[in-house]
Amino acid sequence: MDLLWTPWRFAYVTTADGAARPGIPARLAAWPGDTGCVFCNLVAAVDYAIAHGMNADEAEAAGGLVKRGEHCFICLNAFPYTSGHLMVLPYTHLDRLAALPQEAAHEMMDLAQLTEQALEKLYSPHGLNFGMNLGQAAGAGVAGHLHLHALPRWTGDTNFMTTVAETRVLPEDLETTWKRMRAAFAELGS
Ligand SMILES: [Zn+2]
Repeated sequence: MDLLWTPWRFAYVTTADGAARPGIPARLAAWPGDTGCVFCNLVAAVDYAIAHGMNADEAEAAGGLVKRGEHCFICLNAFPYTSGHLMVLPYTHLDRLAALPQEAAHEMMDLAQLTEQALEKLYSPHGLNFGMNLGQAAGAGVAGHLHLHALPRWTGDTNFMTTVAETRVLPEDLETTWKRMRAAFAELGS
């Protein structure tokens, strides 16, 4: 079994796919739009909530948005493979790494470096996976919008449940993860 790259093949959009407006958490449903992309929807819904008076921390927590850069942002995977499963992605809806403007590409790597530090600090993992699936054939759940997965790994963490049932038993909920991540990234600064 290919343990390295299969974890996120079915991640993120498995349940969002059939949803009316994928990527929009219930608390941010006031945004009336729909881009058809989970990530574009997520950011638009967070921004709309903030523009209409919701506290920025509250809106970003609802969207799992951990850190914003100028061109890219970091958010929690709503359907994590493991606790601490993050994604680094550009705001721009692009499907190819080569199409990403240089400033955005560089910032994506800057945020990836911060992510590595934050995950090590918070979870003390044995290892980390950083990976990108370009195109559906490569296993991309959201093929239209480039995203870099980052997740902590532990020796022996791929257990029977994962292999057979594609089911995860997560030790912490997303809200807790968001709070810990937010604090960790704040401490790392930049
Ligand atoms: Zn998009």
